[in-house]
Amino acid sequence: MKQQRIAIIGAGTAGLSAATLLGRQGHNVTIIERAKSLTTVGAGILLQPSGIGALRELGCLEHMQQYGHRIDALYGWIKSGRAIMQVEYAHLNSDQELFGLGAHRAALCHVLDTALSAVPHQRWFGCEVSAIEQSTHEAIVMFVRDGQIHREAFDAVLVANGSASQLRPQSLVRYDRQYPWGAMWLIRPLTDDLASLNKPHLQQRYDSSSVMLGALPTGYVPGDAETRMLSMFWSLPVSEMSHWQTESFDLQGWKYRVTNLWPELSPLINNIKSQSELLPATYRDVIMSRWGTGRIGVIGDAAHAMSPQLGQGANMALLDASAIAQSVATNDNWESVWEQFHASRSGSIRFYQIMSRLLTPMFQSNIVGAGFLRDMALPIAHMVPWLRRQMAETVAGGKQKWI
Ligand SMILES: Cc1cc2nc3c(=O)[nH]c(=O)nc-3n(C[C@H](O)[C@H](O)[C@H](O)COP(=O)(O)OP(=O)(O)OC[C@H]3O[C@@H](n4cnc5c(N)ncnc54)[C@H](O)[C@@H]3O)c2cc1C
Repeated sequence: MKQQRIAIIGAGTAGLSAATLLGRQGHNVTIIERAKSLTTVGAGILLQPSGIGALRELGCLEHMQQYGHRIDALYGWIKSGRAIMQVEYAHLNSDQELFGLGAHRAALCHVLDTALSAVPHQRWFGCEVSAIEQSTHEAIVMFVRDGQIHREAFDAVLVANGSASQLRPQSLVRYDRQYPWGAMWLIRPLTDDLASLNKPHLQQRYDSSSVMLGALPTGYVPGDAETRMLSMFWSLPVSEMSHWQTESFDLQGWKYRVTNLWPELSPLINNIKSQSELLPATYRDVIMSRWGTGRIGVIGDAAHAMSPQLGQGANMALLDASAIAQSVATNDNWESVWEQFHASRSGSIRFYQIMSRLLTPMFQSNIVGAGFLRDMALPIAHMVPWLRRQMAETVAGGKQKWI
């Protein structure tokens, strides 16, 4: 396509990586972000081998490795101490060395922003986009900066403003709701007394389907190359989150439950002075029939937010950016761009949407028997080499279709 004026809304994983790739193709890219700067918000994310591949393509992998903590496997145990989840990337029998990275969201954004900074582009930070209008010739972005409303015209707009987006074309949205379960999370230094967690593993503990606790080493945060960090997640229904903020919340009782389930976490848990040190995270389930119409495309969580059970959010955002850039490079009109993007990404996105819906209740629900079924099924699947490989491929983010 000849040079296009492209607005990208949202400077998260999807927006920053798409802006870099499209800027490198010579397009006139403007990234519009409501935050005034990229700050250290969020906690740990898991970059799966699929996301690692996309970072390698972007030329960002080495930089990301300076921050991330290498992850080779996901292990989960039930209360009795029996391991039910044993997913290792080595089960994929790949010729390539496959690994993941536990990373702070801010580290990923910093690395992607460094790559974008090397490419000519405009950045409008501190600008909240309120609406997008389109005609056959252009798309108009309306945004608020310093209390003033502005309108700017572009040839096309990529909506990459995350799961709660109100900008995705409503005619394409089939389903959009908040997931009933979320998590309270905490990020802390990975100190010597937490040695059992300083491993290349995402570790989880479960008790039926209603209790799940996770710990992910997340490497370094930009600006502090000395302190390795660890992210901890406690799953709970969203309806219980407000109780966490109240005086009547029984912090001691919660600490007892956690250390009883996972004694090795005691040094971290015992240092928590107030429940306000844990921050709430909620998730959305978003299904769209297509990810583009006219001059507006949608990528990342805005296009297909899902529960984080399979840890695919950042990876899918990176894969979307790569696919949209390839599509822009090989098509000469925007409808064909969305069509090719749909063809290349729909197999994988639909697979993970369905898997996420099937698996999440086994880890985050009050459904009677769901935990029991999981505790029986996962160890059996682990013993069958083909199923073990399918599980590893699913977690690694490489699945394009069922078989
Ligand atoms: C503050 C924050 C913290 C997060 N923490 C975690 C975490 O701890 N663990 C985890 O697994 N995932 C976390 N996520 C989600 C994770 O980043 C995404 O699942 C994944 O990286 C896909 O990224 P994305 O670019 O599609 O969306 P996001 O990362 O959500 O990025 C969307 C961007 O759009 C901006 N934006 C939103 N609305 C507007 C608007 N109207 N106008 C302009 N800009 C707008 C947001 O400020 C944000 O920078 C977090 C997301 C955010 C925004």
